[in-house]
Amino acid sequence: MINIAIDGHVGSGKSTLARGLAEKLNFKVFDTGAIYRGLACAFKNSHYNAVNEENIKDFLKDLDVKIFFEDKLQHVVVCNMDYTPYLRLEEISMLSSQISPYKILRDKVVMLQRSFAKENNCIMEGRDIATVVLPNADVKFFITASETVRANRRYEQIKDKPNSPSYDEILKDLRERDYKDEHRDIAPLKPASDSIIIDTSNMNLNETIDYCLKIIKEKVKI
Ligand code: C5P
Repeated sequence: MINIAIDGHVGSGKSTLARGLAEKLNFKVFDTGAIYRGLACAFKNSHYNAVNEENIKDFLKDLDVKIFFEDKLQHVVVCNMDYTPYLRLEEISMLSSQISPYKILRDKVVMLQRSFAKENNCIMEGRDIATVVLPNADVKFFITASETVRANRRYEQIKDKPNSPSYDEILKDLRERDYKDEHRDIAPLKPASDSIIIDTSNMNLNETIDYCLKIIKEKVKI
């Protein structure tokens, strides 16, 4: 199977890039952040009083996580509850980055990701794909852009939705989540030594897709 890893900062556009590339290559996209988000939804539903090792351990006991695809939409089901409609809520973004540093939780998610990659030509996107999950991926990209460009893109996407956060709130949230992801002990966000780093601050989506496609075609026979 051909596996392409895309890692990067919050709001760097890696999900949109992954979907664009998958369309052109006829690959599946696996959004790994969605699993952390699904687990965050289930954790919230379990009404623990705090995020700590003991509660995470208890939460993971007999926990069943499933992923399925319907009309190209990736669904995340935890203990028979489909959390897909709730994955993008702002509070879930923050909670997912609070639960994601725990090794026991990551181990469970990594197993799921590896078994998917083994069976599918896929573009897998997240934070630790090139470094931990698929160190032998055929092509590895690390996507970034300046904080202000990323905050602005996000603001433009959601500003007309009811109760949407302000630009400053978005900037604060992405700084906090990046800091947590980059400074955790387990699987911190960083490029692998052989990742191709792409700064999209001055590139639009089509330019980024074309650039990545060129690299993929140089590296793998498709
Ligand atoms: O990519 P997304 O913003 O949906 O991810 C939500 C959270 O899940 C991130 O802030 C990060 O803490 C965590 N995550 C991770 N490893 C991944 C993907 C996501 O730790 N491979």
